Amino acid sequence: MPTSTLRSALRWSSVDLPHEPATGSVPLRWAEVGDRGPLAVVTCGIHGDEGPWGALAVQRVLERPLAELTGRLRVVLAANPTAVAADRRGSPLDHLDLNRYFPGNADGSHTERLGAALTTATEGADALVDLHGGGSWCVNAFTFRFPGSEELADAIGAPFVVDMPLRPGHLAGMAAERGAKVVAVEMGGRSVDELAWRDRLADGVDRVLASVGVLAPRLPDPEPARKVEGLTVLRPSRGGVYVPTLRQDAIGTVVPEGTELGVLRDLGTMEPVETFRAPFPETALMLLRPHVTVLEGGAMTFVVGRPA
Ligand SMILES: [Zn+2]
Repeated sequence: MPTSTLRSALRWSSVDLPHEPATGSVPLRWAEVGDRGPLAVVTCGIHGDEGPWGALAVQRVLERPLAELTGRLRVVLAANPTAVAADRRGSPLDHLDLNRYFPGNADGSHTERLGAALTTATEGADALVDLHGGGSWCVNAFTFRFPGSEELADAIGAPFVVDMPLRPGHLAGMAAERGAKVVAVEMGGRSVDELAWRDRLADGVDRVLASVGVLAPRLPDPEPARKVEGLTVLRPSRGGVYVPTLRQDAIGTVVPEGTELGVLRDLGTMEPVETFRAPFPETALMLLRPHVTVLEGGAMTFVVGRPA
């Protein structure tokens, strides 16, 4: 007989948010498995342009045998469905950043209603794992570590970890206020290595779920992440065609000051007009664009920091 998996035992729920003009409503779906013990909630796709990579990692975790479930697991695989569909950070219905609108407003605009529905969908969580990631145009490789929930971030096993205060309005901040341990992960995105990062993220989620008593432990502790401070965004001063020097294999690494990261070329002449270089004596590469991209001036092109 085939082994029952977590996935085969999911109980699906859905709520229709009445705001979409063409179809009338947008369904928000989530699923739960398990009847007793601590509850962990995993959310994916709060920012739509960060794509389906987190959900693919969760899908891999859900292939674990049902017999190894020791608590309750609830998953929201597309928390901002119209934003994921449009490959945009916010919903095209109102363009708001969902992760500023918790606990939401059931009578508000679409994103505010979504915030309220997700507040209900994450109710009772003992642990909240909020999966973000690079997306269609970039890759990233770090975890936000929040006060009081450090062990969750350390279980993820990202290359870098960033200490971050809890903020009201964010899903993690709201869940922490309600008594949950929380972690937010920025790992993955489109590159030729995307499935390897999905697997690394899946292992991280698996370890977090074990650390909060929802799954039987299966994996050893990860290599400790390097703590990074002084997060800095590198942006082009003008628009152009960005050609990466460092590509997907550089994400999660540390390079010396002055290392060439990429070059911006003029759209009309293809002449080089700006060179991105590592700004710190030791520069941690936390987010980068691995592909040739047409950029607007000021676009987020790298996130770098200083290893502590
Ligand atoms: Zn995000």
